[in-house]
Amino acid sequence: MSPPASTKVDLLIVGAGPAGLALANWFRGANIKVLIVDKKPGPTPRGQAEGLKSTTNEIFDSYGIGPQVTAESWRLEEIACWGTRKDGGEGIVREQVIPDRVAELGKPRETMLQQSRVEHHMLHNILSHDNIEIRYSTAPMSVDIDTSCVHETNTFPVSVSLEKVTTNTNTTNGDTTNGTSCHATNGHHINGQNGHQPDEHDAPSDKISAKYIVGCDGAHSWLRKQLDVSLEGDLTDSVFGVVDMVPKSNFPDIRRVCYLRAASGTILLVPRSNKEVRMYIPVESGTALPDPKDLTFDRVMDAARKIIAPYTMEVGSVSWWSAYRVRQRVGNHFSRLNERAFLVGDAVHTHSPKAGQGMNTSIQDAYNLGWKLRLTLKGKVRSSGARQDLLRTYESERRPVALDLIAFDKGFLKLFAAPSAQFDTEILQALKFTTGLSIRYPPSCAVQLPKGIEQLGPSLLKADLVPGKRLPDFRVVYQADGVPTWMHKRLSATGQFRVMIFAGDISDSTASKRLHDVGKYLGESKSLKHVVMPQSEQEPLVEVLVVHCAERDLVDLLALPEVYRPWSDESGYDFWRVFADVESVHDGHGRAYERLEIDRQVGCTVVVRPDGYIGAVLEVDDVEGVERYFEGMNVS
Ligand code: FAD
Repeated sequence: MSPPASTKVDLLIVGAGPAGLALANWFRGANIKVLIVDKKPGPTPRGQAEGLKSTTNEIFDSYGIGPQVTAESWRLEEIACWGTRKDGGEGIVREQVIPDRVAELGKPRETMLQQSRVEHHMLHNILSHDNIEIRYSTAPMSVDIDTSCVHETNTFPVSVSLEKVTTNTNTTNGDTTNGTSCHATNGHHINGQNGHQPDEHDAPSDKISAKYIVGCDGAHSWLRKQLDVSLEGDLTDSVFGVVDMVPKSNFPDIRRVCYLRAASGTILLVPRSNKEVRMYIPVESGTALPDPKDLTFDRVMDAARKIIAPYTMEVGSVSWWSAYRVRQRVGNHFSRLNERAFLVGDAVHTHSPKAGQGMNTSIQDAYNLGWKLRLTLKGKVRSSGARQDLLRTYESERRPVALDLIAFDKGFLKLFAAPSAQFDTEILQALKFTTGLSIRYPPSCAVQLPKGIEQLGPSLLKADLVPGKRLPDFRVVYQADGVPTWMHKRLSATGQFRVMIFAGDISDSTASKRLHDVGKYLGESKSLKHVVMPQSEQEPLVEVLVVHCAERDLVDLLALPEVYRPWSDESGYDFWRVFADVESVHDGHGRAYERLEIDRQVGCTVVVRPDGYIGAVLEVDDVEGVERYFEGMNVS
């Protein structure tokens, strides 16, 4: 037999679920070779996660698939809370209806789309890029990481042998980590998690050498075991059935998000498209918890009917159902071996799907890691030490998010089990948390605080423009043509940083001069010129954007310094870097300065990282502060 073929790739991703596909999307159009392998025979057919937070939808916008995802999604607008009757009578009554809204977002907070469609859009977005290859029915059999060369930037320390596998589709209902097994409508198992064997009739094993390996291989992660990463935490005492079906019911709020609390438990009901609803149904059996393996569809529906009585709940068509026992666990490491191996998504944290966080957090983990790997693999990070500093921020930023999520999840499950008198207030707080608005990454090379600001502590958290927090989204219009845009839609995932200058009312001569001086400095600065305005036609690593609040007809775009409207021989002026916070023709006024609490006379400058998080907040003309940020990042 001939020796196995050997292939060199920059990045090997194990697992093509939400995390793996979201990570791969960062490498579209980059001169970086990526291989994704997945043991399943093809894309996920149905089931599992559902529910996209608006911050995840911003990621899809940045990948260019926002419109397709939105078009298929179902918007959630209202939450109804039902509870037992206070007069001692039987049954449940509506207590209140709460808008499903977080005011700071200024846009829908959550939409529903099933995981398979989300994966579909992410997959199709990478298929046309020949630097990214995806192989299904393929799993790694061994991994070896040569620690002698992990410190040098351009080495290939990761060796993996791949095999063609047939996934065992006849496994019994035995996976209790975060979902047991997936059942098709007819009751057959469609994606057993356990056991895959090399397919002896298929292609020979393939040896892969890679610079980096990332495990996006789900709750049973193979790579996690190879890296000796342990999960901390436990099984909870909650067993749920999840059902996607067309309900035939006289329950009046069947098309609203509903929390239905009855003596026998709390159902979460969420409307989806195609007349379907998703129901999360707690199942108990006396004092003992049932084994999810033993749960039948009828038993889950009996539990649902008991809670929803006296309203009826008959079953129309069922597109998917599952039963699971919740585990709340977080890995003790998110990266290993000098930041050559990473774990992302369910591979390194699991929790109850009731808060709708699994798919969202997995995609957001991947989004956090992706730009750092892209920058490194493109050779933009100047030294090996800087490479490690940057890649280490994946763990320092995302592990606390996972830990917070578990803490939240525990409270959330309790809220369901024994709701307090403040149930609705707690739900509203939860909405903010699950949308990701309380995430604040700690200081690092990528999140720089001015000296002394650490002491301000929690008071900073109230403000919107804070280093380490996501740039709040806001609507402005393009100076050149008045077309309105949300800023995150404009921040496509190109790997670029943005220096965003909130220049104030530049019809005023002082503000105008300040903007000119800043522009001239940035365009000529020795340390920044090559990243802001590269000589060749290549994309700059740093885009300089201006958001002003003057009347548009008082601003002459082409009279601004070149860095704000650069010229290229291929496509002329770049008209898409200057924005105005003014009334638009059709969509009203975004009031960006007001929302961000920026003084129109004073302004400020914000360094935005490629993932839309804030790297630094500076005085509007603090050009040295901008230089310091990029020196700290050590990029060129
Ligand atoms: P996965 O989706 O598990 O993907 C891992 C991939 O790796 C799979 O494609 C698998 O085939 C592949 N793989 C595994 N091992 C190997 C190997 N050795 N070699 C090669 N490939 C491998 N989340 C929400 O946000 N909202 C919800 O409403 C929600 N509801 C849920 C309902 C249920 C019943 C369940 C079970 C989960 C739910 N979740 C929900 C959670 C969500 O499905 C997961 O958190 C999410 O899929 C995690 O994405 P991932 O890419 O990290 O892992």
